[in-house]
Amino acid sequence: MKKSLLLLIILASLYFSGQSQPSVTNHFDGKTWWDYVKVLADDKMEGRETGSAGLRKAEAYIVEQLKRDGVASAGVNGYYQPVKFESRQIDEPHSRLALLENGKEEPLVLGDDAMFSTRIDLASSVEAPLVFVGYGLTVPEMNYDDFAGLDLKGKVAVVLAGSPAEIPGALSSHYQSAGERWKTLQRAGAVGIISIPNPASMDIPWSRMSLNRAHPSMALVGQEFDETAGEKLVVTFNPAKADKLFSGSGHSLAEILEVAKDRKQLPRFPLTVSIRAKTKVDKKMLESANVIARLPGSDPVLRNEYVVLSAHIDHLGIGEPINGDRIYNGAMDNGAGSAVLLDVAASLRKSPEKLKRSLLFVFVTGEEKGLLGSKYFTAHPTVKANAMVADINIDMFLPIVPLKILTILGLNESDLGEEAAAVAESLGVKPQADPEPQRNAFIRSDQYNFIRHGIPGLAMQVSFEKGSPEQKIFKDWLTQRYHAPSDDLNQPVDLSAAAGYEEIIRALMVRVANDDQRPQWKQDSFFRRYAQPSPGN
Ligand SMILES: [Zn+2]
Repeated sequence: MKKSLLLLIILASLYFSGQSQPSVTNHFDGKTWWDYVKVLADDKMEGRETGSAGLRKAEAYIVEQLKRDGVASAGVNGYYQPVKFESRQIDEPHSRLALLENGKEEPLVLGDDAMFSTRIDLASSVEAPLVFVGYGLTVPEMNYDDFAGLDLKGKVAVVLAGSPAEIPGALSSHYQSAGERWKTLQRAGAVGIISIPNPASMDIPWSRMSLNRAHPSMALVGQEFDETAGEKLVVTFNPAKADKLFSGSGHSLAEILEVAKDRKQLPRFPLTVSIRAKTKVDKKMLESANVIARLPGSDPVLRNEYVVLSAHIDHLGIGEPINGDRIYNGAMDNGAGSAVLLDVAASLRKSPEKLKRSLLFVFVTGEEKGLLGSKYFTAHPTVKANAMVADINIDMFLPIVPLKILTILGLNESDLGEEAAAVAESLGVKPQADPEPQRNAFIRSDQYNFIRHGIPGLAMQVSFEKGSPEQKIFKDWLTQRYHAPSDDLNQPVDLSAAAGYEEIIRALMVRVANDDQRPQWKQDSFFRRYAQPSPGN
């Protein structure tokens, strides 16, 4: 990462052009926010990998700021809640993947054709027939079943990432989560899954996806957290090479992508090739921590309830170099979100407004490893589980254009969504539901674990209207900077958009903290089921 005069000029001009926009902010100027981001995304933090010294240093900095600002600790050891992980790293030279056609073996090139996922505990050896099951979804609520009439006993399912248009976004996202996926596969008798990303909706190109495939993945220590027990094989297949899977089946990926374009149900059929996999995975134990802080409420009764503001502080650490840079700084993902927590906590601490409910600030670890820090926290919260009335999560809110449109993930699921929309509108910002539901953003960050524990949750992002020129700015950001070393301090950001976003977060916290009623799931929300205690949850 290089600091350059050019950057300063870009930032300064963005800052001053931001000043001429109608201002929605009273409490923030964007500068204090950026000062926090500068520390959290500094090269010295080494990309804040879960379990690393860099992340410990970043967390120590956060704790120091919280103490300075008078925000109380609410962890287990002071501000910290320790979390134990098993790290898993694929040993590629001792692992192999091949297709079998008519008894003949065709080896696959790891990284080029396909790659293993070590998010699950891979079996050391698997050989199984393949069945293409379309999107691989079973959605009982919609009477939708890609598995109907297919035999998957002992087989590996091949799926195209995505979902049919008829399934509402939140529901299809839920059934695409790793745990729900495995439940569906296991019921069908399958032993694993090969998924083919749809090139039309890939956030990052295959070359970058596969670049860090030997980077360790992690799992929480403890049976209670293992949602994929028994799953033997998870592979991601390069869409550019995926016709190898369809060889001899009479189908091609191009034909399937044509149907997927309109998000219709896909053809489903047994494949003629089988898969053969041998894997060696190096495992070790390591420890990291969530950081938790609290501002007490003033109402004698409601102060026992908490409005949670959460953000992940971990990122990807040090990886394969891109343009000579090996440090994956994670400035927007998610130094930016962690900085909002610090700024909002400090602002509310100083505020003369009395809040009825208490506020909880949760900086989670292990998000990039599969939402693990929040999974641990929501299973073992440091306050009473039913005392948490809402989770407002911040992950990669992307203040890279002026804040005119705000996407609210979970907008239509609970009255927390409605309140967020009302707050945005009152500050002159237009709220909208997720314009790209097929990206599954609703389940891709930490709010999802709160939701699965019955707590109404949402996440908000600076956004664009579909078809607007801004859409391309976001698309380009994902292609070039998302999960790349260039998500660093050397990128243009809009400080006034960040300040406006903080103002919305702050106002929403105040509003939920002072409401008579705690937020409720909508009657027709799928996620409402988690709020009702019943055996099996
Ligand atoms: Zn990320």
